[in-house]
Amino acid sequence: MLLDTNVLQQIIALRHDSIVVFSPENGKNTVLCILPNALLYDWLLIALENDPNVLYQAMKSSSWQQLAKPFSFLPKPSKFSELKIALDPGHFAHNLSTAMLEKKYLRIRDSIGQEYTLYEAALTEQIASILQDMLQREGATVMLTRQPGLSALNVTAEQWVKGCWQKALEESVQKGWIEQAEAEKYRTYTDVKKIIQDFFRVYEMHKRAEAINAFAPHLVLSIHYNVEEKNVPDKAGFHALHARNYSMVFIPGAYAANELKHPLDRLTFLRQWLGPQVLLSAKAARVFQRYIADSLGVPAVTPPITDELSYLQKYSRLHLIHFPGVYHRNLFLLRHVRYPIVLLEPLLQDNEHEFFQLLQKDARYVTVNGDTLNISQRVLQTARTYFHALKAWMKE
Ligand SMILES: [Zn+2]
Repeated sequence: MLLDTNVLQQIIALRHDSIVVFSPENGKNTVLCILPNALLYDWLLIALENDPNVLYQAMKSSSWQQLAKPFSFLPKPSKFSELKIALDPGHFAHNLSTAMLEKKYLRIRDSIGQEYTLYEAALTEQIASILQDMLQREGATVMLTRQPGLSALNVTAEQWVKGCWQKALEESVQKGWIEQAEAEKYRTYTDVKKIIQDFFRVYEMHKRAEAINAFAPHLVLSIHYNVEEKNVPDKAGFHALHARNYSMVFIPGAYAANELKHPLDRLTFLRQWLGPQVLLSAKAARVFQRYIADSLGVPAVTPPITDELSYLQKYSRLHLIHFPGVYHRNLFLLRHVRYPIVLLEPLLQDNEHEFFQLLQKDARYVTVNGDTLNISQRVLQTARTYFHALKAWMKE
């Protein structure tokens, strides 16, 4: 689902017996590969099982039929005991200063000068931990892409940079995540903040996607809380609260023209639209958006989308007119994960009511291991909403 449909014929050509994938090399559109229709299903299985870069290298040398194939697609489970699910708590900060580095925090000053802070990574990991506990009690198999207080690399970002982080440069080049020249540039970095912002941030996302794909779940939930796009700190470093609130969920499948320059992304585009990933993600997303609106009471964002939401205007496409809030978009995990995935943005943290509700520790949750979590009632409500949405999704 391209935002600019004219681009499609520069990427692929549909012939009566085959699909041709083009590759824009040296400024010219050359043929990367020809996929005969008779082998399309085989190709899809291979595209599902293999790392996109491995697939890309094999397509270039026409040796893709040697690559690994999965046994089959997993059918949707009908009860929790059959469910295999990946929960992805968004972002990686373990404290406010790291959250400021990844620009995922709120700092507010009220009318009497009292200061309050909040950061998203702490909230997403609480939701994920509670949901994990609720699902495991029902017998589900659950993986978390990161543990509370840690990044997906099992240490904090700062600890990671103190270790042998340069080894990750070689790995990234080898796996086709970055070019050699980029790796050489990062190798000269000494500033911890710059290493985290420029390299770690993306590398860590690759590790999340890699772990999810190795786990091969029925469904992936990427857990986030949103803020207004243009709410950046003022000169004194404070955000502003406001009265607006809306929800949205993202699924794979929409690409802007400039997001399909690399042939690897074109293969991903084909794999997503010819295979079941987009459709299965959409089915789950519709249930989640409905539960968010009904149980959390946050309405789906509805057109007309104003300038405040440029990412919906420029990089997203509404799934169906009857399902407000469900958008296709080319976010990192939506592109790199090869299984059904929904990225959840159920509310705005900088809404004047949500912000103070999220700050509260007015709920208690005791896990099956006896650990007590003191959390916001709103966080608990969010986890419960997702639990019930999952139940409804399995019944559908
Ligand atoms: Zn987020």
